[in-house]
Amino acid sequence: MPKIALLPGDGIGPEVTYAAVDVLKAADQAFGLGLEFEAFPFGGNAIDAHGEPFPEVTQRGCLEADAILLGAIGGPKWDNVPRHLRAETGLLALRKAHGLFANLRPAKVLPGLEHLSPLKPEIARGVDVLVIRELTGGIYFGEPRGMSEAEGWNTERYSKPEVERIARVAFEAARKRRNQVCSVDKANVLEVGEFWRKTVDEVHRYYPDVALEHQYVDAMAMHLITRPSRFDVVVTGNIFGDILSDLASVLPGSLGLLPSASLGEKTPLFEPVHGSAPDIAGKGIANPTAAILSAAMLLTHALNRSDIAKRVENAVTAALSANPTPDLGGKASTQDFTRQVIEALDRVAA
Ligand code: ATP
Repeated sequence: MPKIALLPGDGIGPEVTYAAVDVLKAADQAFGLGLEFEAFPFGGNAIDAHGEPFPEVTQRGCLEADAILLGAIGGPKWDNVPRHLRAETGLLALRKAHGLFANLRPAKVLPGLEHLSPLKPEIARGVDVLVIRELTGGIYFGEPRGMSEAEGWNTERYSKPEVERIARVAFEAARKRRNQVCSVDKANVLEVGEFWRKTVDEVHRYYPDVALEHQYVDAMAMHLITRPSRFDVVVTGNIFGDILSDLASVLPGSLGLLPSASLGEKTPLFEPVHGSAPDIAGKGIANPTAAILSAAMLLTHALNRSDIAKRVENAVTAALSANPTPDLGGKASTQDFTRQVIEALDRVAA
């Protein structure tokens, strides 16, 4: 019985999370997954109820679960609490507690929604790229670091096990997609890049069925704008991944469409890329697509059911083309939209 810990969070978080839960329950009914759900306080609501953003009851619930589905956290109400009590501090603690070293951000231009992309439709068509960012190493954490009156310095540093494990995540993810990995570095200038490239090549020997190419990060930034549809899985370090995942995330054209997954040593975490959107919270108009697609990623990466995930994605695409939420120019409420996805789930072929 797979256990899913729900952290609905704040603002539109609960609205979109329960929309995703409804879709997962429908999938469960159709495919007999035996899912169990339990909700826990997290973020601003946990500060209100427990005096801290990641209380013990939630820590325990997450460790005992097979997957965590998070909505969104924070909002103006909690902006002025001390830093160690901030909602975002809870998220950092959650990532740390579960050793979540791989951040997966897919950016897909859904068929029929090319007009939302800032790129020309003929370039946007068919974009389906998964950016995998190493999240716990690299220059953001490397020592030595510091600043004096005269200079500032940081260190880009990767150990062999750190590169090996993120490379494995990339090759495994590619096997569930189109079997292509593009590894991004700056090996022409940086030794750490040369080391990254060599290590990815070594791990690749265990994945002969997956095609591997290497790109320099500067060239990759251009390719993601001029030829984005030619990429499948893109894997890179922390700082390049920070930049390239944001670059890729504008391709679909709306924040409400973007899911994410963080994988690591313990329970994997799935959450929309968007925030708690306090401006529209409680109005019933939040677009639940990112949360529903995060649930689809949960099916793929936590339950190894990419077949069902594909059906969910197809159902979302059908609902988006029929009647989307107001942020995409449609009239559907969050609930209407979710209902359309569930109806389409029975109809669309995988
Ligand atoms: P944070 O700092 O938490 O990321 P933010 O204000 O920078 O918050 P969001 O909360 O994601 O970012 O909101 C940015 C804008 O996008 C807001 O106007 C919000 O209403 C809109 N938005 C975000 N997510 C959705 C969604 N799921 N459906 C509809 N609109 C959304």
